[in-house]
Amino acid sequence: MEISQPLDELEWIPRPKVLALRRLGLETAEDLLTHYPRRYEDRHQFPEFPREESDTPICLCGEVTKTRILRFGGWKKIFEATLQEPNAHALSQALTLRWFNLHYVQKMIATGQQLVVFGKPKLRGKRLCMDHPEFEVIEHDPAEAGIHFRRITPIYPATEGLSQRVLRSIIHRLLVDLSDESLEIFAPASLVHGDRRQAIHAIHFPESWAARDHAREYLVLSEFFAMQLLIASRRAESSARMGESHCGRGKLLDKFLAGLPFELTAAQHKVIEEIRRDLASSHPMNRLLQGDVGSGKTVVAIAAILLAVEAGFQTALMAPTQILAEQHYAVLRRWLEPLGVRMSIRTAARQEESGPLPLFADGESLANARVSRATGAQDDAPNIIIGTHALLYEAVSFSNLGLVVIDEQHKFGVAQRARLTAREPVPDALVMTATPIPRTLTMTVYGDLDVSIIDEMPRNRGKVITAARDESKLGEVLAFLRKQLEAGRQAYVIYPLIDESDKLDVKAAAKEYEQWQERLHPYRCELLHGRIPASEKQDIMERFRRGDTQALISTTVIEVGVDVPNAAVMLIENAERFGLAQLHQLRGRIGRGEHKSYCILLSSDKSPETDAKLAVLEKTSDGFEVAEADWDMRGPGDLLGTAQSGLPGLRIGNLKRDAQLMREARAAAMSILAVDPRLELSENQRFRRLIVEQQGRTFSHVS
Ligand code: ADP
Ligand code: MG
Repeated sequence: MEISQPLDELEWIPRPKVLALRRLGLETAEDLLTHYPRRYEDRHQFPEFPREESDTPICLCGEVTKTRILRFGGWKKIFEATLQEPNAHALSQALTLRWFNLHYVQKMIATGQQLVVFGKPKLRGKRLCMDHPEFEVIEHDPAEAGIHFRRITPIYPATEGLSQRVLRSIIHRLLVDLSDESLEIFAPASLVHGDRRQAIHAIHFPESWAARDHAREYLVLSEFFAMQLLIASRRAESSARMGESHCGRGKLLDKFLAGLPFELTAAQHKVIEEIRRDLASSHPMNRLLQGDVGSGKTVVAIAAILLAVEAGFQTALMAPTQILAEQHYAVLRRWLEPLGVRMSIRTAARQEESGPLPLFADGESLANARVSRATGAQDDAPNIIIGTHALLYEAVSFSNLGLVVIDEQHKFGVAQRARLTAREPVPDALVMTATPIPRTLTMTVYGDLDVSIIDEMPRNRGKVITAARDESKLGEVLAFLRKQLEAGRQAYVIYPLIDESDKLDVKAAAKEYEQWQERLHPYRCELLHGRIPASEKQDIMERFRRGDTQALISTTVIEVGVDVPNAAVMLIENAERFGLAQLHQLRGRIGRGEHKSYCILLSSDKSPETDAKLAVLEKTSDGFEVAEADWDMRGPGDLLGTAQSGLPGLRIGNLKRDAQLMREARAAAMSILAVDPRLELSENQRFRRLIVEQQGRTFSHVS
């Protein structure tokens, strides 16, 4: 049998089981063999039944001596089974297993059976109970005993209609039937020791814990290696493309910097130099600029843009929201028009205003502005085109495009980045993000990019104080808010309107707004959300920026990029509904000026998870610390396999726990490609297949 064999061609697997396997996304023999156990039970010997309750789940084995069904509240049912310790002595206490309203359980468990259970023992009155334990009925089938019992037994992610026992038996049989060749080694011998067949065998049916650990390491390294190979090959591909130098002498940049009302930070200087070197090189730039919210990425982007503009190239600046694109447009006009730099904006909304032709804000048509590369930049062609996704999808014709800057890159996917730079000659690309991710993740998610980091905040920033408060304290919070407005500050009130496309939500927002008008009277507030027509949105932002309105009642449309230094208070309602990273981004809208700022997180949820989450924000305003905490709380699975990484999801590796293995895998992949960039040597050709396979599993489009 081959590893690619579809499961429905194996007649020894019953049809209903094939369907159940499909529900788990398992279609081929390989899918099943890489359906790794989520935990194991050592069924050589079970511990004695406990006397005390415990917060960590334990695995026990015993005999069912009694079952009963209790009814309560009319139709609700509790099914109870009493489990007795084998060879019990007089003092040993039985364990009561309980299931609430789970009808299928009572059909599976009967007196006289032997059960293995896994769960947390808790005291209920005088009884020791286990509620909703995982369980398995032991069947005394001598042929199968060695698979399920008296061994370290795998427990899999399962689904209805597919018991652990059945899943385990199928996987066991597959392992026996598979030919040796079909499990050939995919990772280089310099990285892993042993062979894949052994490793796959031992991850499912380990002979010892040490064998399991070794197998896991083997498989994690192989998985990481494949991923790093994909990343490295993408990187090689992009740097093999023909680029050109896009760097002017820096006169224009110097003029711009001289006119700025502040000094650049050392970190800003440093990253501008890194970018300058990339621009000057004829290799295409692929650089990620990482810097916490408010660290001043925009001026760095402008610096890059001016270097390219001075060299005679057109540049594009893309932002994820219309509000942010408009803000960039306004900022750039203010700073750059005096220097004679021409720019235009291009968003879906602006197009509606000016008809179907690709018109610029100043009424000039792109068609007229088209410049031939031979003649160099035409006098009236815009030097900078600012826009949203519209830059990707509509008929924007760039002329002599030399640099593409993507702001808040985490809101786009890799496919979109690729789309902007997929032209000849290749423009340089600078992507910016405030999402601070730990280093191990950077070399994976952004492994095909060079990374520059702004690790310093501008001086003279007011402190941001964050406080979590119960919703019942709204009165006090309001009093505080009004005092801030009285002192001349402005405020954001964020409410969690989750689905901007929902009409009901829009109605709720309007109601909310009315309430806020009363609460803040006589201060002026306005309502902002995604469903408000674009031009109106723009006016609302403008009035807030000018200080005509004191408070903005808004959804998360202002989450990224918005910069109003006088806004020093943010009130976030139902803070429990947002993720940590998002709360940090939102909070990044304040603390942008010299004033002391306040972020108040209102919530009515008293769960320990919410407490822990909000406590992180109270404790730190450092994006990296928030990211680390976020990582710990969410688990690393969520952080990868996303559209923006453009990488296949991980089946066994854990980016946090296995960071060291990732480094090893990366080194191995790079050293192979350094010697043999096209993987042409015979011993490397198998790796090409690995790349193709990975590409196939890649989810690279975000809609
Ligand atoms: P972000 O990195 O979040 O995109 P911005 O580029 O919007 O941050 O910058 C935030 C604010 O800080 C802006 O008002 C900007 O003009 C200002 N700023 C940027 N660099 C400095 C600096 N070196 N010193 C003082 N203020 C700065
Ligand atoms: Mg920004």
